[in-house]
Amino acid sequence: MNIERLIAKFGLKRISYEPSKGDKGLIAKQLLKATMIEANEIMKTWRGTYPDKALCIITIVEVIQPLGQICPECNGSGKVRSKCNHLVKCPCCDDGRILWTQETRFAYFCLTLRITYSRFRRYMPVIKVLVDWLSDKRNAAALALINR
Ligand SMILES: [Zn+2]
Repeated sequence: MNIERLIAKFGLKRISYEPSKGDKGLIAKQLLKATMIEANEIMKTWRGTYPDKALCIITIVEVIQPLGQICPECNGSGKVRSKCNHLVKCPCCDDGRILWTQETRFAYFCLTLRITYSRFRRYMPVIKVLVDWLSDKRNAAALALINR
């Protein structure tokens, strides 16, 4: 199954599922676009501006990597070399993954948009709703694949 058909299983509206020719970034752009539409729907009653793109990027990353980010210190192996050259458990992660917490979400969010932690905390409920929404879409896609 090609990536377009897989993404189509997400059932997201306003996405073109035509096969793209060589542009792998196109699907990511469309996923971002569909997530932004949902974010704007959720934020309809929000007063003032909000960083919809940054909200969507953290959402997509969290849904794509539900077990957490790959640890940059051990490259996901969960082990590092000690000073005496022994393999030891990486002190930074949990078996190669940095689990999603409010702190790690904030750190990742700041890669896209550097804001204060207090401001970020106001966006957390929105991110939670977006992650749940996109996870549901992903799970439905996975079930559709299993049933084939
Ligand atoms: Zn690690």
